[in-house]
Amino acid sequence: ACEGKGVSKHIWVIPFPACGHILPLVDLNHQLLLRGLKVTILVTPKNLCYLSPLLSLHSPSNVQTLVFPFPSQSSLPPGVEQMQDLPISFVPDIATALGKLYDPLFQWFQSHPSPPVAILSDTLLSSWTTKLACHLNIPNISFLPFNVRAVSSWFGKLNIMPSFYTEAYMASIQSWGLVFNSFKELEGENLDIIKEKFTRHDRVWAVGPLLPAKAGDRGLNERGGPSSIPPGQVMAWLDSCHVDKSVVYVGFGSQITLTKRQMKAVASALEDSGVRFIWAVKDPMKRVQDGDDDQSMIPQGFEDRVAGRGLVIKGWAPQVAILRHRAVGSNLSHCGWNSALEGILAGVLLLAWPMQADHFHITKLLADEFGVAIRVCKGLRSIPDSVKLARIFVDSTSMARPERVRAIKLQKTALNAIRKGGSSYQALDKLIEGLSS
Ligand code: UDP
Repeated sequence: ACEGKGVSKHIWVIPFPACGHILPLVDLNHQLLLRGLKVTILVTPKNLCYLSPLLSLHSPSNVQTLVFPFPSQSSLPPGVEQMQDLPISFVPDIATALGKLYDPLFQWFQSHPSPPVAILSDTLLSSWTTKLACHLNIPNISFLPFNVRAVSSWFGKLNIMPSFYTEAYMASIQSWGLVFNSFKELEGENLDIIKEKFTRHDRVWAVGPLLPAKAGDRGLNERGGPSSIPPGQVMAWLDSCHVDKSVVYVGFGSQITLTKRQMKAVASALEDSGVRFIWAVKDPMKRVQDGDDDQSMIPQGFEDRVAGRGLVIKGWAPQVAILRHRAVGSNLSHCGWNSALEGILAGVLLLAWPMQADHFHITKLLADEFGVAIRVCKGLRSIPDSVKLARIFVDSTSMARPERVRAIKLQKTALNAIRKGGSSYQALDKLIEGLSS
C-alpha cells in the first residue's frame, strides 16, 4: 500500500453512484471541509445533483467538481448512471463502467497545477482507485458506508465471494486508511477485529453517524434530490398529528421495490392497524432483469380508504426530515445502514425487514445485540403476515416498549459520539491529522 507522506490539504473524492453511498460521503465531505480540507469530487452529469448541498454551503475554491461523461457500458441500459434505477446485481457493471475513467483521471491529475494529495474513494470502486492512487504515488482512503459488523464478516470470506467483491474489499483492506459511518460505542469490537485481523494498522476511523450536510429543514428536504411531494405538505401533515411518536414511517430506501403481493400485505396491515402513517413508495426500477412489472403497485382504492390517516409518497421522500419529526415513532425499514443510523439519531424505533447486502447484519446488531429494533420479516421476496404486521404497527407506537426505551438511550450515545470530544469527532480529527502529517 502507498504511504501517506507529504500530505497537505486537497483531496480527491470518488463516490459510488448509489444514494446509500453518495449521500453519506457528501456528509463526510462536509465535515472535512469544515475542518479546512479542500475537495475535488468526481461525478458523472446525472449525479451532480447529490452535491448541491455541499456546493451551496462551501466556497467554490474549496469544493470543486470534476464532471466526466458516464462511460458507455453495454450491460447497462442507456442513460443509467445511478444504482437507484437498477437491481443490486448491477453494482459490478457500474463500477466497471466508472473504471474506464482511469486514464482520463490519470491525465487530469498529471496536468493539475496543485493536484490532490490523497484519494477518498468508495469501497466498491477500490479495485481501480487503489491502483490509480498507487500509480500517482498518493494514499487511498477507502470509504465503507456499510456497518462494520457486516464488513468484518465479508473481509473474512473473501475467498468465497464473487470476484468483483473479493477484489474491491481486498483493495480496501490494502488502502492507506478506512473510514466507516459508524461509532465506537456501537461497533467498537468490530472495528478492533478489522484492525487486528485485516488491516493490521490503526488507520481505521469510525466517524458516524454522519449528519446530513445541510441540517436546516430546507437542506434535509433537498437531501438526495428534490422530494416528489412538496416537503412543506409532508411537514404540515405531520404537524397535524398531535400525539408524539404515534406515526409509523414505512420506507425501503433507494434500492428496494416491493412486489405486488408484498405491497398488498403492507397496505392491508396499515389499513387494519388504524395507525397514522407515511408510506414512501419507490418508483419502479428499469425493467432490466426479470421483467417484474408488478413493482410498487399500490392496491386499488387504498389511498382513498386511508385518506387523512395515512400519507402515501410516490417517489423520493424527505426521509430524514420525516424521521426527525416529533410525531414519528417507528420505521418499517429494509435496514439500510443509512436509514438505520438516521433512525437511531432520531430516536425512532426500527421495525426490521432486512432484504439484502448488510441488512441482516444490521438487524442482528440492532435487534439481537442492542435490543433497539423489532424483527418483522426477512428476505427480498418474503411476504409478511398482514395481521401480525398490523399488530406490530400498533405496538410500535407504544411508549412502553423496552426497545423504544433503549432506542432513546442509543440516540443519546450516538449524539455524544459526534459532539465535540466524542469518539467520532476525535476520529475525524485523527483522520485529518493523518492526512496532514
Ligand atoms: N432516502 C430518502 N428518500 C427516499 C428514499 C431514501 O431520502 O425516498 C435516503 C435515506 O434517507 C438514506 C438513503 O436514501 O439516506 C438510503 O440509504 P440506505 O442505506 O438506508 O438504503 P439503500 O438505499 O442503500 O438501500
